[in-house]
Amino acid sequence: MDKRDHQSKEFRRQSIYSIAYFVFTLLLLLAINTWSFARPRQVPYSQFLQAMERGEVKLATISDRNILWQTGDGDNIEIYQSNRIPGVDDSALIDLLHQNGVEFAGIQPNPWLSSLVSWLLPLAILGVIWYWSVRRLPGATQYLSFGRSRARIWDVSSEKVTFDDVAGVDEAVTELREVVEFLKNPDKYAKIGARIPKGVLLVGPPGTGKTLLAKATAGEANVPFFSISGADFVEMFVGVGAARVRDLFRQAREKAPCIVFIDEIDAIGRSRAGARSPVSNEEREQTLNQLLVEMDGFDSSVGVIIMAATNRPEILDKALMRPGRFDRQVVVDKPDLKGREAILRVHTRKVALADDVDLHVVAARTPGFAGAELANLVNEAALLAVRNGREKVSMDDFDEAVDRVMAGLERKSRALNPKEREIVAYHEMGHALTGTLLPNADPVHKISIVPRGVAALGVTIQTPLEDRYLLTEDELRDRITTILGGRAAEEVIYGRVSTGPADDLQRATALARRMVTQFGMSDALGPIALEDPEQQFLETPGLTTRSYGDKTAEQIDTEVRALLSELYQRARNLLSRHKDVLIQAAKVLLEQEVMEGKDLVELLQSAGVEFPVTDI
Ligand code: ADP
Ligand code: MG
Ligand code: ZN
Repeated sequence: MDKRDHQSKEFRRQSIYSIAYFVFTLLLLLAINTWSFARPRQVPYSQFLQAMERGEVKLATISDRNILWQTGDGDNIEIYQSNRIPGVDDSALIDLLHQNGVEFAGIQPNPWLSSLVSWLLPLAILGVIWYWSVRRLPGATQYLSFGRSRARIWDVSSEKVTFDDVAGVDEAVTELREVVEFLKNPDKYAKIGARIPKGVLLVGPPGTGKTLLAKATAGEANVPFFSISGADFVEMFVGVGAARVRDLFRQAREKAPCIVFIDEIDAIGRSRAGARSPVSNEEREQTLNQLLVEMDGFDSSVGVIIMAATNRPEILDKALMRPGRFDRQVVVDKPDLKGREAILRVHTRKVALADDVDLHVVAARTPGFAGAELANLVNEAALLAVRNGREKVSMDDFDEAVDRVMAGLERKSRALNPKEREIVAYHEMGHALTGTLLPNADPVHKISIVPRGVAALGVTIQTPLEDRYLLTEDELRDRITTILGGRAAEEVIYGRVSTGPADDLQRATALARRMVTQFGMSDALGPIALEDPEQQFLETPGLTTRSYGDKTAEQIDTEVRALLSELYQRARNLLSRHKDVLIQAAKVLLEQEVMEGKDLVELLQSAGVEFPVTDI
């Protein structure tokens, strides 16, 4: 709020300056026009001829275009100027001048001087006008200082943010404490020869506190904080962004130890290979390259830590993630129930709460809210209390505020109703349970039904996440069964499925197809590679060539379908056999929103379920 205030004040100040300068320029122009010593009086050519006939003209200076002439002498000299008649060659003029005894001379136009006057001066004046009028455009100030970085140094002492102001993202805070430690005693690390992180990438959905965390890291370490947004680097002129990066790092090195924070780094860090945007790719690439060069170029022992934030890590150029660059990634996720309660605590610290307010209940009513929305919620509740003439914020205010914020969110993304949440819980537990019960599936790490926007209503995270190089057929089958487990669970519980698992089907189908066409794992088709794995990544899908005929294509489809139905049946059998424990675990998940894989294992053990299950 006060940032915007500050900006508008700044803007007003700038406008006043610019207008003043503009007026000044105008006055200057006027002055140049009127300001002249012995400015000749402009009179018609005919008057010149008449004056000459009267014998008043004493002296004439003739140029291509005009005649300067003088009458009188001593103190009453008058100078006149008459334009010559264009296109008329009055050679008679010379005779006339002779006859009247006028002293006369011609002058050659001085090309240098005249072009100076007729071209350069107006140009210079135009330049001046341009300069000041451009300055008046909001945000255009930096346009004139192209290569200068726009980083705002945020003074730590004035508005100190610490980890106490951040809640619900404990894992991220733990990781960042190390960065703080390093900034406080860089020598300690240097002495031992420990490699210090250079770049920390904060990854997470909007409003989860990435910017806040970066500030808090600086606040904890008590170091200067340079904040710049990725979009600020990207200008319409090629090379400007790169110059800004250079300047930013120069400033940072002077102020070390310090933190450089690049918010929304995806604006420049977008993958160079994949990007299709025709606009100013070159500029972005240059900027990105310069950033990489700068990051490689300095020794981290100088005490500059680069932090960056993005909510779209998948589009970032892989080069950014290499060792020595943003090699450390910190996930800042949406908070779970406990986290939300903690965030509400932080934001209600300065709010007068009535006794009936139970923040735990408020937190339970706000699944899917990020920190920013919770902060907004508290403020909204406080405003309502004022409007209702209350001294303290009551639970009613919170209830109404939740509805308001929720309505706003519903338009933006999607807030789940209780029934939907229940379906999501069963669905995710279906994945998790199949993943845990099957012998060859990857172990389940974490299950979450904290909504993350439109695409994912819940997730089941299995480790290892990365692609393995060798997978046995059993592992692939278990993997597909696990993917289908979500849909199967819905069917086992409700007898029907929802639209939720659409993406699951795609993934399962793709994997089954590869088993048939690439890995030769289908009995009917035999061990034959029908598709080149590279072809999947060709950018123009229409151009892939098929190396098999229509009949084989049909056969592939049949095989893939058979495999998928078999594995789906497998998932359904497994889950209906363990329906009790599925219901029990889904209840726990609904309540907690997040569940660790090991807790699920414990739950299974205490329910007396024997696993892994091999006889399906
Ligand atoms: P992001 O950068 O991830 O989009 P911000 O850091 O800008 O999110 O968050 C905006 C505001 O929301 C913060 O200034 C803070 O008031 C509030 N907020 C967000 N996350 C948290 C959190 N984890 N704890 C406390 N407040 C938070
Ligand atoms: Mg941010
Ligand atoms: Zn699913």
